Amino acid sequence: MDLALIQAAYIIAAILFILSLAGLSRHETAKDGNVLGMVGMAVALAATLWLAGRTAEWSNWVLIAVAMAIGASIGIWRARRVEMTGMPELIAMLHSFVGLAAVLVGYNSYLADPAGADGVHLVEVFLGVFIGAVTFTGSIVAFLKLSARISSRPLMLPRRHWLNLAAVVTSSGLLVWFVASHTLAPLVLMTAIALAFGWHLVASIGGGDMPVVVSMLNSYSGWAAAAAGFMLGNDLLIVTGALVGSSGAYLSYIMCKAMNRSFVSVIAGGFGSDGAVSNADVDYGEHRETNAEDVADLLTHASSVVITPGYGMAVAQAQYPVAELTAKLRERGVAVRFGIHPVAGRLPGHMNVLLAEARVPYDIVLEMDEINADFPDTDVVLVIGANDTVNPAAAEDPTSPIAGMPVLEVWKAKQVIVFKRSMAAGYAGVQNPLFFRDNSAMLFGDAKERVEDIIKAL
Ligand code: NDP
Repeated sequence: MDLALIQAAYIIAAILFILSLAGLSRHETAKDGNVLGMVGMAVALAATLWLAGRTAEWSNWVLIAVAMAIGASIGIWRARRVEMTGMPELIAMLHSFVGLAAVLVGYNSYLADPAGADGVHLVEVFLGVFIGAVTFTGSIVAFLKLSARISSRPLMLPRRHWLNLAAVVTSSGLLVWFVASHTLAPLVLMTAIALAFGWHLVASIGGGDMPVVVSMLNSYSGWAAAAAGFMLGNDLLIVTGALVGSSGAYLSYIMCKAMNRSFVSVIAGGFGSDGAVSNADVDYGEHRETNAEDVADLLTHASSVVITPGYGMAVAQAQYPVAELTAKLRERGVAVRFGIHPVAGRLPGHMNVLLAEARVPYDIVLEMDEINADFPDTDVVLVIGANDTVNPAAAEDPTSPIAGMPVLEVWKAKQVIVFKRSMAAGYAGVQNPLFFRDNSAMLFGDAKERVEDIIKAL
């Protein structure tokens, strides 16, 4: 009876996770999606504890309770403290925990009965540890890159593709040895190779391609969890892991499409970096500066305005004054819309979350493909803390490291105002010729302060 109830609870949790994913796919339903996911996880945890209660000693219960209390306290502490700009690295760190958990579960599962395990179980253990170890070190490098603790430049080791291939081929050989011998040595050797492989895989990916890496590691963490589910014989973990794995893979596909990259070349590392040069030294001429009063004047006389936010809006926390400016302009009859690049910010959907937080109406927030054709008919574009995602070099300079990446074609508008603090390059380290165009003007300073100045001047 107990077991049937636990199975039922698992099915309910799995359905709630699927509904949660469906909810998260649209602005309007994203909050409900989160709630469904949380309820699903609560049901799953309760059922798993109940299952442990049927089979485990009371001391195991104490261990589980202590582990959950420590994990929950750290989780709540970090979640309360984290800034929106720190979310990408926090997520990368969380992915690394899933990878580490899969490695530990794999070793535990193997060491419980090394001699008695059948071939299928040994393959499960081997693959689980491999995926887990790659996810673990790959996510740590992503964490270090996203938090700017190490440079976002790609690591270009000589013959790096051969190194990757050698890691995969050697690991396949070790799998055969492991299944045939049931000994620990091939497992340990493969773990060392997989840890180095994961590190190298992400280290060799350049800043501009990081969005694909983030979603790819998301996918890996799902497959690592699914592998742990197989090792533990836990159906819910398999289903949940597969959901995360496949939705992460789909997100990687969307990111690749958004950046016009092939998935394989991004994974292989260093795409777009071979022979491509950063155009930091190119002389694009003089830039023009403007001030808040002049921008306020420009906006008052405009009939159509498009705002393209980027990572700088998140850093400045400028979304609230941006929402206020939008409301004020709309009250005056100006048509204001937002153009969102799929990889703007440092997290898929980063800008959408910020704008939703500031209660910008969803119907004026458009995707890049929906707004790109409208720029020639736009009076003023406000580029708020965006850089790579509005860089014309991506469309016009085939030698650029971001060549081929579709961007918001803001330079086609009548006037472009760029909000940033300096002439520094964006995340991909590429200079932006937009800043030097005749129809562009720079409004220097913190984006939040400058937008507030414009509101005052209106
Ligand atoms: P970028 O990172 O290219 O540029 C952001 C700009 O914001 C900088 O040039 C910076 O200039 C400016 N800025 C920073 N702080 C402030 C501030 N307080 N006030 C005003 N301006 C500020 O941003 P984009 O959003 O255009 O592009 C995102 C980049 O991140 C892409 O290269 C993408 O590939 C990458 N990426 C995206 C991920 C995703 O999933 N979305 C994940 C990982 C990477 P200055 O210093 O002069 O102020």
